[in-house]
Amino acid sequence: MSTIAAIATGNSVGGIGVIRISGEQAIEIASKVFEPMDASNLCELKGYRAKFGNIIINGAPSDNGVALVFRAPKSYTGENVVELSVHGGLLTVQKALQAVLEAGAVPAEAGEFTKRAFLNGKLDLAQAESVAQLISAQGEAAMKASFNAMQGSLSRKINGILDVLLDTSAVMAAWVDYPDEEIEELEEDELMASLKDCELQLTELLDNYDNGQTIIDGVETVIAGMPNVGKSSLMNMLVGRDKSIVTHIAGTTRDIVEESVRLGSIVLRLRDTAGLRQSEDVVESIGIDKAYKALDDAQLVLAVFDNNRELCDRDFDLIERCKGRTAVAVVNKVDLEQRLDVEYIKSSFERVVFASAENSEGMRELAEAVEQTLGISDFDSNAPMLANSRQRLNCQNALECIRQAIDGLSLGVTYDALNVMIDGAADELLSLTGRKATTEVVNNIFSKFCVGK
Ligand code: GDP
Repeated sequence: MSTIAAIATGNSVGGIGVIRISGEQAIEIASKVFEPMDASNLCELKGYRAKFGNIIINGAPSDNGVALVFRAPKSYTGENVVELSVHGGLLTVQKALQAVLEAGAVPAEAGEFTKRAFLNGKLDLAQAESVAQLISAQGEAAMKASFNAMQGSLSRKINGILDVLLDTSAVMAAWVDYPDEEIEELEEDELMASLKDCELQLTELLDNYDNGQTIIDGVETVIAGMPNVGKSSLMNMLVGRDKSIVTHIAGTTRDIVEESVRLGSIVLRLRDTAGLRQSEDVVESIGIDKAYKALDDAQLVLAVFDNNRELCDRDFDLIERCKGRTAVAVVNKVDLEQRLDVEYIKSSFERVVFASAENSEGMRELAEAVEQTLGISDFDSNAPMLANSRQRLNCQNALECIRQAIDGLSLGVTYDALNVMIDGAADELLSLTGRKATTEVVNNIFSKFCVGK
C-alpha cells in the first residue's frame, strides 16, 4: 500500500501546521525532508519519539519543525506515521507537503487516514463515523456524544446485541443441521426473551436517534413576531454581536438572516425573519412570504411579543400558527411597562419566557425552555447514540427482522425459517459496525471526511 501524506491542520494561518504521513515508507520519506538538529537519523528513532530539526526544501533548510514518529502498529492508522509540525503559514505548510510528496508520498484522499485505521482494525465503522462527527460538532452535547461513540459506546452496545443474535443463530443451526446429535433442547421461552431484549435495545437506540440528531445537527429555529417586537435584538442577544440590523423603523429586517448559535447544550440554527405584517412594500412582502414559509418549515419557533404593546390581529395570527407546533413564546421588553395580555400568551403557549433583549436578560430561561420544549432536557449524551441515517437504517432493518422472528416464533414457523430472520438481523448489525460492510459502503463513508483525517 502506498505511503500517503496530507495537511492535517486547517487551511488557515496558525501557530503550527501539521503534515501527516502514513504508510510503510513514512519514516524514510520524512527523513528526506527533515534533518534532526542533533544530526541523528530519523529512521533510527523509536516510536512515540520526537526530534527538533530543519525542514529541507529543494536541498536547503527552509523552516524549523518537529518530527513525531509512530511505529506500526502503534499509531492512529496502524501503519508507520510521521507528523511533521512546521510553522503554520499557508506557504510553509504547503511547501513542506510538496517536499514530502516529492520525496515519494502520494496525496491522501479524503478520510484516507481514518479509512486505513479502519482497515487495520484500529476502529470500527461506527467509531470512524464518530471521528467525523466529533470534528464537526458545534455543541457541547454533540461533542460529548461523538466522543463516547468514538470510544466505542455504540459499538459495544451493537456488539452486545450481535452476540445474542449470533449465539442464538448458532444453536438453532446446530439443532436444524444435526437433529440426531445430543444437542440441548431449544428453550423457546428463552429464545423469545432474548429476541424481545434485542428488540427493546434497538427500539431504544432508534428512539434516541431523533434527539441525537437534534443535538448534533442543531435545531432549525425561526424567530417570528410583529415588526419592532425585538426579533433582531433577540437574535443579536443570542449571537452575541450585531448580526441583524436593529432600527426603530418597522420592517427593517428585509430578508432572512441566518446564524448558528449555542444555547445551553444545543445548537440553534436561527432564522430571523421579516416582521409578520401585511406590507405594501414589494421587497418587504417577499420577505414576509418567506417568513411564513420558514415558520412552517421550522423545527422550533420562538414567537416574540412586545410586553409594552397590546396584542393585535397579526399577533393572534402568529399565536394561531404556533398551535400544535414546537414553539416557545418570548415576551420581550420586560424592562418597559406591561401592556401585553400576558395571561393570554400563557394560556396559548406551553412555555413562556420573559426577556429583555436590550439588556440581555432571559438567556438562561430561554435555554431551559427550549431544551424542555424539544424534550431533550434530560437527554443523556453518555448513552450510546446512532450517528447518522446509515446506522439508523441498519438498526431499523435489524429490528424489522427481529420482529418477524418474534412473530414467527409465536406462530411456530420452522427453526430454519427463524434462523434466516435472525441472520438477517445480524447481517445488518455487522454492516453497521463494518465487520461485514461492502467496499462501496466503506468508500462512501470515508469520502465524506476531510482530507488529512
Ligand atoms: P424587530 O423588528 O422585531 O427585529 O425588532 P428590533 O430588534 O429591530 O427592535 C425594535 C426596537 O425595539 C429597537 O429600537 C430595539 O432597540 C428595541 N428593543 C428590542 N428589545 C428591547 C428590550 O428588551 N427593551 C427595550 N426597552 N427595547 C427593546
